[in-house]
Amino acid sequence: MFPSRRQLDPRCVYQGNTVVEAAHVRNVLEHAGIPCEIRNDRLWSALGEIPLLEAWPQVWVADERDRERAREVLRDLERGPSRPAWSCPACDEWLEGQFTACWRCGCERSAEPAP
Ligand SMILES: [Zn+2]
Repeated sequence: MFPSRRQLDPRCVYQGNTVVEAAHVRNVLEHAGIPCEIRNDRLWSALGEIPLLEAWPQVWVADERDRERAREVLRDLERGPSRPAWSCPACDEWLEGQFTACWRCGCERSAEPAP
């Protein structure tokens, strides 16, 4: 598990495996009006010389008071892509939740699933 020697700063609202993920999170938060920044992304070049945990890109809100709101936005973000699988109304193909149209016949996913 994670080493506990280093407490994360309370402004850190996200820790990802890749800079791409962190950049996506930052974009989403900024769209939600929450100023934030990525930390650690420049340390990748030094990977191997620093503890791995500290090399993971993190997203920090600029103001700690935004933290709870940021976490709510991130919870919504996590829910977003994991929509339930659906079956195509035209050809009955079974499709994963992330597809918005049937790969077989092109029929678009009609109704959003109920929340
Ligand atoms: Zn179809």
